[in-house]
Amino acid sequence: MIRHHPQPGILSDYATGRLSAGLALAVACHLDGCETCDAAAAGWESLGGAFLRTATSVPLAPKALESTIARIGATPPHGVETPSRVLRRFSLPKPLLRARIGFRRWVSPDIWVAPVRLKDAPDARTYLIHARAGVAIPKHTHRGSEFTAVLHGMFRDDGSCYDAGDFACSGGSAVHAQTVAESGDCLCLTSAEAPMRMVSALARAVQTLAGTIY
Ligand SMILES: [Zn+2]
Repeated sequence: MIRHHPQPGILSDYATGRLSAGLALAVACHLDGCETCDAAAAGWESLGGAFLRTATSVPLAPKALESTIARIGATPPHGVETPSRVLRRFSLPKPLLRARIGFRRWVSPDIWVAPVRLKDAPDARTYLIHARAGVAIPKHTHRGSEFTAVLHGMFRDDGSCYDAGDFACSGGSAVHAQTVAESGDCLCLTSAEAPMRMVSALARAVQTLAGTIY
């Protein structure tokens, strides 16, 4: 059962296109499995459409309609990359099936990350993170928002349990350290506005070795 949902402000920002591509993907992954939030987002979209109908019209650029129609059904510029054999054992949300997922990078014997390549935001800090049962992510903080959609398994953070389908939002100043449940591995889609800031020197060293995507 889904217990953690995006706040209404996040859903309205999603529906009105005010989120970055990575943060929007995390919300879309949650909506794929949450009828309640999906309906709420649709409501915001309808409201936006109503405003558009009352707005002053602006002439289209020459051939704008023709070029839009011509792109419908065309091959996406980046193609569609089949999820690797590793990911086939997970039931991924539909928005993620259309994304390009890069090679895995091990940041410890128990944790790997794989970047999600976004067409409109190639430098976005959006990635899959997989951790084995019982593993603790090193204590860290952020300089911006971090959205997480739980795709498989469960983790604990600050006394709360986040199960498959749940959505977590961490603010800029929160120091936290998620721990994966002992019952099984955990896979999440995470997008952050800025790199994690590891609290311990050892964790910062690992982060440097692993690169800057997370
Ligand atoms: Zn929801």
